Amino acid sequence: MNTRTALVALSALPCLLQAANTGSPFYGDPPDEHHPWAVHDQNRPQPVRVEPGTPSSQEQPGKPPSDAIVLFGGAASDLDKWEADKKVPEPTKWEVKDGILQCVPKSGYIRTKEEWGDCQLHVEWAEPADISGESQGRGNSGVFLEGHLEVQVLDNYNNPTYADGFAASLYGINPPMANALHKPGEWQVYDIVFRKPVYKDGKALDAGYVTVICNGVLVQDHTPLEGPGGHHNRSKTGPFPEKGPLKLQDHGNPVKYRNIWYRPLPKRTVEGATEGSLSPEAALAKRAEIAKMVRDDAAKLEGNAKTLRELESLVYANDEATLKAATASLDAFVTSVKAVPADKLESKKGEIMAFNNALQYLAKAKDIPDGYAPAKELEEIVKAQGWNTKK
Ligand code: MG
Repeated sequence: MNTRTALVALSALPCLLQAANTGSPFYGDPPDEHHPWAVHDQNRPQPVRVEPGTPSSQEQPGKPPSDAIVLFGGAASDLDKWEADKKVPEPTKWEVKDGILQCVPKSGYIRTKEEWGDCQLHVEWAEPADISGESQGRGNSGVFLEGHLEVQVLDNYNNPTYADGFAASLYGINPPMANALHKPGEWQVYDIVFRKPVYKDGKALDAGYVTVICNGVLVQDHTPLEGPGGHHNRSKTGPFPEKGPLKLQDHGNPVKYRNIWYRPLPKRTVEGATEGSLSPEAALAKRAEIAKMVRDDAAKLEGNAKTLRELESLVYANDEATLKAATASLDAFVTSVKAVPADKLESKKGEIMAFNNALQYLAKAKDIPDGYAPAKELEEIVKAQGWNTKK
């Protein structure tokens, strides 16, 4: 049977399948050693809905996406989310004026009261329009991820400095790939993706990465971390804190900030950021979890829908009790089909084709025993009816 025929057969059975609105469960390549999900797996959760924000203009800041946690949105009261970066916390002396947060030189760094780890971070900043100083002395500030690693803020529009201290550098680690800055006085936008290192038993499994887009231009491309970076001394690799605040630097220049928000990112497994490709052990564990979810769902169903859902669980993990239950139902179904005269079978075509498709799929993936009797019998009926002819 070809895929199209299978889909047509299944779509003829809207009440037979549950959650089939994204396609057939017996369709794409099955789970394997590294992939717990089938290709185009209809059991795979739908992406969470996030209302997108709006971009900023020079005149006004844009709107954050719906799930963003706003750290500074322009209100004076947003300053309550920040404090002076001191051993004994105290209110910061940085100022909010006309919706803008401004560094008051010599008042010290500020940090958020809230702490987190991996994130997508959005920060907008502007340099004083009146240029003063040069190299690292011109409009220096900084965005410190987890209070630890500096993404440099500096007026480098027309101001050379050492490259690994340039605006949008990971300070002391890696220069940006481009100078995409607007003029001083204009708003600059950083969109940052921060993934801290992953350590297990004292061993680095993943260096950690930072990606920075400056004014829409990619300037740090998944740059691996070599520790937190820093001034003068080469930093050493090592674990980052579990979580930390966002810090903004007072380097003696009245740099402005607006529209600061972040979205926490899911913690990575040791295998990587997604369930796309896991270690065999992790893939097996995930498959067992999905199989249970599908079996639990099957338990709420009745009749053929229940049997199909039970068969579907076998795609992820073998389970003797489930196979036994499905086999009993399939045997009964085959017996009932055989009781119908061959020229009257058309009315049962949808159900027969749905089971046949499922069993062919499971046989190909070796998820049912070789020579599985109900599969053989249904295939013979399909062939005898000529329903297997490709159209
Ligand atoms: Mg700095």
